[in-house]
Amino acid sequence: MTDDPLRVLAPGTIRFCPLCAGTLGRAPVPPDLREQAVCAACGFVFYLNPKVVAGTIPEQDGRILLTRRSINPGRGLWTFPGGFVDFGESVTDAAMRETFEETGLKVELTGLHNVYSYPGSPVIIVYRANVVGGTLTACPENDLLEWVTPAEIPWDTLAFPSTREALREWVAARGQMPGG
Ligand SMILES: [Zn+2]
Repeated sequence: MTDDPLRVLAPGTIRFCPLCAGTLGRAPVPPDLREQAVCAACGFVFYLNPKVVAGTIPEQDGRILLTRRSINPGRGLWTFPGGFVDFGESVTDAAMRETFEETGLKVELTGLHNVYSYPGSPVIIVYRANVVGGTLTACPENDLLEWVTPAEIPWDTLAFPSTREALREWVAARGQMPGG
């Protein structure tokens, strides 16, 4: 297990075809003739695409809900609820499901906050949300949940670049200057 998705999925590290177990090689693929992983036996092209993460910034009485991660990446650091979109699942359903799994709270989405994309990173789609039910409960991925005011956001101990960007934008949208 590694924290670096690029290391896991770098070209050449996936060696066998998922369809026929033949050996994957590198070959140019039409129409752009970029090199892809191609099965020498059955011709299957193993495209590598970015993963998608869906998250929410739950809001209540001028505060937002942050979670402290108890696993890597970002162990001991703060972010908001989120996780990978399952295959076949909509991004909005994933955002609400991940929020419930990580916080015990049922939320409704109140709007798209923003989309964050970095080289070598999942695409991160963040919604604003209101709590509509549930009971605040930590989970195996988070050991602490806290409602914070904009002034209480722990800028020095945020987990990811997307966390910082999303929270800065959330604060800025409310007419208050971010602290860091
Ligand atoms: Zn094959």
